[in-house]
Amino acid sequence: MDTERARDLLTAELAELEDRARFAERTRAETSGDPNEEGALGQHPGDYGSEVATAMDTELLVDTVADQRRLVEEALARLDEGTYGRCLVCGAEIDDERLEARPEVATCREHADTPVVT
Ligand SMILES: [Zn+2]
Repeated sequence: MDTERARDLLTAELAELEDRARFAERTRAETSGDPNEEGALGQHPGDYGSEVATAMDTELLVDTVADQRRLVEEALARLDEGTYGRCLVCGAEIDDERLEARPEVATCREHADTPVVT
């Protein structure tokens, strides 16, 4: 994988994640109010159940987006260090097809499920 191409992909992904993070955090702020008051989203108090479900989904989304952002930021850091595109477990080059699909991955296919502590 060309490093310029990798940087383009990662930068685009980071921008999209920042948008999603802003959206998720705004939604979380709107759904975490007092359930006895009419919600900022305009639900009636009787919609308490669905409002809680939405708040939980939003919490999960905020976490997921934050995790993904961290992975992309780490991949950008590896680009700067010149170690991008190599498996953090075995050091093998990660194939282009895998990087094209998920430019933030830090491991080869063989170690796809290996937890990497960074
Ligand atoms: Zn590996």
